[in-house]
Amino acid sequence: PMPDPILTIEGLNAHYGDFQALYDLSMHVEAGEVVAVIGANGAGKTTLLRSISGLLRNAPASVLWRGTPIGAMRADQIAAQGIALVPEGRLLFPSLSVEENLIIGGQSGRKGPWNLQRVYRLFPVLEERRNQASTSLSGGQQQMVAIGRALMSNPDVVLMDEISLGLAPVIIRQIYEALPGIVGEGLTAVLVEQDISKALSVSTRVYCLQEGRVSLEGQSQTVSRDDISRAYFGV
Ligand code: ATP
Repeated sequence: PMPDPILTIEGLNAHYGDFQALYDLSMHVEAGEVVAVIGANGAGKTTLLRSISGLLRNAPASVLWRGTPIGAMRADQIAAQGIALVPEGRLLFPSLSVEENLIIGGQSGRKGPWNLQRVYRLFPVLEERRNQASTSLSGGQQQMVAIGRALMSNPDVVLMDEISLGLAPVIIRQIYEALPGIVGEGLTAVLVEQDISKALSVSTRVYCLQEGRVSLEGQSQTVSRDDISRAYFGV
């Protein structure tokens, strides 16, 4: 039999009060994949990542980790399983230095290849700025801290929410060039991204969301631009 996917979403519904943001959403992520999730503003991408990581509560059986339901777990319990979130807006600890923010990520107690030295090798500018307040960094550098903090927990899956949002093209390129060095060695990634070209260039598979539903699933290298436009804009 095939092993269970590392992550399975089955019939996920998500609500904010009376508003339903996700409808019966299903997807799967195999170990070692980079899965891109694209979709217009408000399609539900952030809600999906928040549901997986336990920040939004959902039906216990709608998220499975290696075949085991985790929907009833708290966010900290899910993180301890090896699921790390790079949240939208980065959410660094503003009163702490770059290095202190990274060290907090390393408090997971999980073993693995990631430590301060390795994060600094990935993003050398962070080592130069290690003792500065995280708020004194540029947006792109703060995004590097947020990614580094997630990696410091030595996760099996990293969920990244629009890591290129609002950043200069040169910084986006730097971050995307670092991705292969991140997802090597068996780390699995789910990448929410508004930039379709970027998303397709680094991912193995892609899901498109439209108004809370999966409107397309495909292989990133072979999916057609027309199909993506239809799935993205609903035209
Ligand atoms: P964006 O690219 O703009 O971040 P998204 O695809 O990540 O969009 P979500 O942030 O998941 O979309 O939002 C999905 C829907 O849920 C939107 O219609 C949004 O207005 C709504 N929504 C999100 N957060 C809340 C909230 N805290 N309360 C009420 N509605 C919300």
